[in-house]
Amino acid sequence: MKFDDRKNLWLPYSQMKIADDPVHVAHTDGVRLHLADGQVLIDGIASWWTACHGYNHPHIIDALIRQVKSMPHIMMGGVVHDQATRLSSRLATMTLGDDAMCFFSESGSVAVEVALKIAVQHWINQGASLRKRFACFAGAYHGDTTGAMSVCDAEDSMHAHFKGYLIEQFQATVPETDEQRGVFSTWLERHHQELAGVIIEPLVQMAAGMRMHSANALRFIADQCHQFGLLLIADEVATGFGRTGSLFAFQQANIKPDILCVGKALTGGTLPLAATIASQHVYSQFHSNDPAHALMHGPTFMGNPVACAAANASLDLFDAGAAENRLEQVDKIERTLGDSLLPLLDHKHVVDVRVKGAIGAVQLDAMIDVDQAMSFFRNRGTFVRALRDVVYVAPSFVINQRDLRTLCAAVSGFVTLG
Ligand SMILES: *Cc1c(COP(=O)(O)O)cnc(C)c1O
Repeated sequence: MKFDDRKNLWLPYSQMKIADDPVHVAHTDGVRLHLADGQVLIDGIASWWTACHGYNHPHIIDALIRQVKSMPHIMMGGVVHDQATRLSSRLATMTLGDDAMCFFSESGSVAVEVALKIAVQHWINQGASLRKRFACFAGAYHGDTTGAMSVCDAEDSMHAHFKGYLIEQFQATVPETDEQRGVFSTWLERHHQELAGVIIEPLVQMAAGMRMHSANALRFIADQCHQFGLLLIADEVATGFGRTGSLFAFQQANIKPDILCVGKALTGGTLPLAATIASQHVYSQFHSNDPAHALMHGPTFMGNPVACAAANASLDLFDAGAAENRLEQVDKIERTLGDSLLPLLDHKHVVDVRVKGAIGAVQLDAMIDVDQAMSFFRNRGTFVRALRDVVYVAPSFVINQRDLRTLCAAVSGFVTLG
């Protein structure tokens, strides 16, 4: 009998009984996956959009090795350390302002849980204890923990089993048309007293299959939050750090959320770290002489020094003085994705083509078999995954034009197959 070396490994989002064998990756380098069987693939996904500088970037690797030797971990209960204080001040300055407050955790889902708790308690601390629910949007994905699941798309098959177990929230359509704006506004007028806030993934709902909305729609939502005194939570776990063409997607709408969640690319895809960043006016509801006003949350590994060192090194690579201009690279990727993918709109099975920053998605008229797609792309030396009826690329920003064109050619080949 063959020894099955992964018989104890439970994989995510997979019916393992019928799924193809997973891809066994031995090591990574730049934008390439080196497989155990010797095959080398150009990576079009960047490990769920995290590895924005490519894999094994020496600046990040050096920083985390240095940190792991001096202090691999220290708890944050009553303790601070240089990597966390430096990272918090850099994140505050680049997002909500110098006086914003950063709460660290280890995953995007937890960053969202913390954002929801902060929003609710921000109201409780001022005596408004009825504001306990949220408005969220069709197509939303905010993570797989219970609070986060409750603000995901309610009809989504991924979480549909848990209806009744989850807190019921209010789901709206992202208001693009005059009619939708009217409906959204009327609805908020009626329900805002029950709401703690509104949560949205600015500009691109990546997990929903790269669904996009306009900066105008986002600005309208922000204006409405302002009008009805609701907190706006921007979940930029996926869109943060350049993915949509600006450092953060909310900046393209000239708005400022009250609470911001970041994760995924925060450490350049090297270690788990996320942050919930609150504006000073939100934090000020917690800052009091009453111990009951404190935020009672504290992940064991929050602000892990090695993860924070990786994040600080990743931010260096986005700095104005860095050797490569990341946002310029994203701009170039966007142009190539547009040139290569938009013509696919003419194909009979293509419903939509969406390009924004370093995201290119082709939506087909039927659900795509993930395994079949994976093996098609693998045979062309590429690693691309399908998501529902969408095949997409969201590569590392350091990918060169030649590799990017290879990815796009593979996507065209797949789309024009049927
Ligand atoms: C991935 C993702 C999350 C969840 O992050 P995890 O680190 O997987 O918990 C939350 N929100 C958005 C928008 C995401 O893309």
